[in-house]
Amino acid sequence: MPPARVVAVAPGSPAASTGIQPGDEVLALNGEAVRDVIRYQLQADEPVVELELRRGGLEQLAVVEKPAGSPLGLELDSPVFDRVQTCDNHCPFCFIHQLPKGMRRSLYLKDDDYRLSFLYGNFTTLTRFTEADLERVVTEKLGPLYVSIHATDPDVRTRLLRNRRGATSLRWLGALLDAGIEVHGQVVVCPGINDGAVLDDTLLGILDRFPRLATVGIVPLGVSAYTTEPDMHEHTAAAAGAVLDTVGRWQSRFRDALGRRLAFAADEYFVLAGRPFPHADHYESFPQHENGIGMARAFEADVRAALAGESAPGIGPRAGFFAWVDGAPADGYRAPRVDDASHPARNGDAPAGRVAIVTGQYGEQVLSPLLPLLRAATEAPVRLVPVRNAFFGGNIAVTGLLTGRDVHDALASEPPGERYLLPDVVLSRDRFLDGMAVADLPRPVEVVPTDGASLVAALR
Ligand code: SF4
Repeated sequence: MPPARVVAVAPGSPAASTGIQPGDEVLALNGEAVRDVIRYQLQADEPVVELELRRGGLEQLAVVEKPAGSPLGLELDSPVFDRVQTCDNHCPFCFIHQLPKGMRRSLYLKDDDYRLSFLYGNFTTLTRFTEADLERVVTEKLGPLYVSIHATDPDVRTRLLRNRRGATSLRWLGALLDAGIEVHGQVVVCPGINDGAVLDDTLLGILDRFPRLATVGIVPLGVSAYTTEPDMHEHTAAAAGAVLDTVGRWQSRFRDALGRRLAFAADEYFVLAGRPFPHADHYESFPQHENGIGMARAFEADVRAALAGESAPGIGPRAGFFAWVDGAPADGYRAPRVDDASHPARNGDAPAGRVAIVTGQYGEQVLSPLLPLLRAATEAPVRLVPVRNAFFGGNIAVTGLLTGRDVHDALASEPPGERYLLPDVVLSRDRFLDGMAVADLPRPVEVVPTDGASLVAALR
């Protein structure tokens, strides 16, 4: 097992006082050769931590004494020190298979690792899950986890995952729920394959076999121009409406049987079907916010609270376990959007005057109804610059998948002399998905955190 490598030591931290340096390899903590940041955290929480290190090929011991539960102050190069479990499925709707060549290497990693599910909320299919994994999850109470269900019918699930183990691996979901682990599920709906009667059957299967699931997100597949799958089709407005009707029917049944809605349709479905988003109460605390479920209403609630001078109502992006793991790397599975959050990336001095918010086509649907409110409350002459995703093509319209090239082309035809606000969700370390830097855009932009309060603050 390759050891973890220290990439940063927090100044003034207990680790810094013992002379641990970036580049040191961590061989063991308190005698345990830790496999990942989850085990690391358990050992690092101890009041006395013995670190076996290797520096320049020489092994040495560092002993850190600190209050129990306080951080060591190390940042490591990976959340998983042994190998990330990669996925052995070949889902025809997989977005990674629909990426053009030449993008960042990390974008092509197909992980299916329960540890990344626990750490970052990534969905796992459990096709590579083992008895030993179950024992560890239960013993260390590693929840919540996020499981891709897609269909409860074994044949349909096998077809969707293109993996025979898809037929049987949901037995692990039952075992996790029986052991009291909190699990959220998702169904990626592919029209003609697992919508209609199959979706009905899946939701019935969930009620029958997995009623302890915390929630199930029903999300549409994304189809980029690069798909090579002839059976993968975008939802029509009618197909999206039918999914909403099915989910609505089942929400009533789940409420009758379980006292909660359990299944929630993605915001994208309401946009596709041309229906209004449900009220914020509908989402029962927004448990699948990061999966695009309830984002529109959460954003609106955030904006309204900020305009009223109140604090955000406790919804929005969830930091999750990862935020507090001492040692977890900033880069990798969730790199910071901008390099220095206190000085967000910008590419020139933004002029005063009119303000334009750069957004994707779905973002336009969320922001448009809020414009009169924002204009009235902030007295800012604000408008939108919706950007079509020509890079991916197909039905890809979420703001988070906008590339620098498309934003560049949209801004090039916009007038100079205005303020342009760019949501940070399009960036990873100041760069777009296609590698373009903010500095390469043809107009000065201000990068704003993607939440309602930050947008209101930027407008004021
Ligand atoms: S399980 Fe996920 S990563 Fe693997 S092929 Fe399917 S969609 Fe892609």
